[in-house]
Amino acid sequence: MRRDLRCDDHAALYHALRRFERVYCAFVFDTGILEALPSREDRRVEFIHASVLALDDGLRQLAACSGAPGGGLIVRHGPSQECIVQLACSLGVQEVLANRDYEPEAIARDRRIAEALRTAGIAFSDYKDQVLLECDEVLTGQGRPYSVFTPYKRAWLQKLDAFQLRPYPVERYARHLAALPAGERLPPLAELGFVPTNLGALPLPAGMHGARQLLQDFLPRMAAYKEARDYPGRRGVSYLSVHLRFGTLSIRQVAALAVQQAAQGCEGAQVWLSELAWRDFYSMVLWHHPHVVAQSFRPAYDGIQWDEAPELWQAWCDARTGYPLVDAAMRQLHETGYMHNRLRMVVASFLTKDLGIDWRRGERYFAEHLNDYDLAANNGGWQWAASTGCDAQPWFRIFNPVMQSQKFDPQGRFIRRYLPELDRVPDKHIHFPAAMKPAELQACGLQLGVDYPIPVVDHAKARQRTLMRFSLVPQSGG
Ligand code: FAD
Repeated sequence: MRRDLRCDDHAALYHALRRFERVYCAFVFDTGILEALPSREDRRVEFIHASVLALDDGLRQLAACSGAPGGGLIVRHGPSQECIVQLACSLGVQEVLANRDYEPEAIARDRRIAEALRTAGIAFSDYKDQVLLECDEVLTGQGRPYSVFTPYKRAWLQKLDAFQLRPYPVERYARHLAALPAGERLPPLAELGFVPTNLGALPLPAGMHGARQLLQDFLPRMAAYKEARDYPGRRGVSYLSVHLRFGTLSIRQVAALAVQQAAQGCEGAQVWLSELAWRDFYSMVLWHHPHVVAQSFRPAYDGIQWDEAPELWQAWCDARTGYPLVDAAMRQLHETGYMHNRLRMVVASFLTKDLGIDWRRGERYFAEHLNDYDLAANNGGWQWAASTGCDAQPWFRIFNPVMQSQKFDPQGRFIRRYLPELDRVPDKHIHFPAAMKPAELQACGLQLGVDYPIPVVDHAKARQRTLMRFSLVPQSGG
């Protein structure tokens, strides 16, 4: 098990149970990944740990229900290759099965593991599970990968038939779950070298059960998704991304529910389904164009001269830009590990087009802080906002952070939640307190530069600088 921490509708588990008499399930806390994390306090590790405990429990229950002798999860903490090969050899297995990963490093890791297993006389096979349609399942008429989303989505929707959405009936073969070897135990979080975060205080339930809870909460709201999804102050989105990221919820299951509602004419479901198409789209882009990990999708944009701007960078990271929507969004990220999609676009646009800072720095920052961090979606989102990507925002379209705030948080509900220092600022000025007259500032007891920062840049001037920056790129059409 990797980013598929569930035991229902699970491709690799189903194939293993169907094909073999005895099946062991294993998870590795990979030191290659964990040791590279900048902090020992990491919500993702805690979420994974809690989900691994829940999976162990789920597997035991599944086994018990089908009269299997065992069930449960074997957990290791170490370098993934070593752990998997040693475990496979000591258990004497014929084959190791896993669900496919599409990130370049994960592909390379799986190749190494497959090779090491082969040398030990053990087969390796992988299955599609993480996405609905993978790699080159959706191609243009000329057999090439799409680089524009709308035609991709059209073709994607045509391919997404009942067969693709059919769940894997794991429970049918669950009697093949093997009893765990003696002495197996699940390491507590501290043994992995991590400490608890504020995860328990957040409305972020982990594991398969947590995923189901969030899904049940979203289903009655799906119809309103089209109207509500852009307003960070409303409960308009599903908040399922972390569960889709770690596979505590099956992508087929949620897509089938959306397809069902969409077929009944529910527009909210149709729009939500498009978001799932974006997820597959970016996964496909990363698989076909692994260069995007370090470079712009369009190579010409690697010629852009970004600014170093250490003070502006720090202001963005510290939520001190003087643009309330941007600062509130960054606080949401720090306090919860989540950021609303509209705000991800706003802060990414602000970093690249108002502060002139390289999208790769913002992308890395998100990678460290987002619970749902996913290389393909994050890279796609950043390159979209920076106009360097596949089917990206055109470079001359630059979000105005004040107008975005007026439009999508009109009463400043979201801003006030994360910036209590602006609580007394009237709705009219909440989007840009720097425009208030001295008497207005006094009336709400706000001292600019003391209680809340003076804007670090002037948007109109920054916009001009960005237009210039992009127009100097030879192939930008500027
Ligand atoms: P919903 O609106 O309920 O959408 C449902 C699901 O569709 C999401 O859970 C997600 O799996 C998928 N989805 C939605 N929008 C997108 C999108 N634009 N691209 C790919 N998948 C999408 N999403 C991540 O999962 N991980 C990331 O690291 C990530 N980084 C981003 C960085 C930037 C700069 C931007 C602009 C977007 C990023 N996104 C990322 C996409 C999107 O913002 C999140 O998926 C969404 O906000 C998660 O909230 P939700 O589950 O409530 O989404």
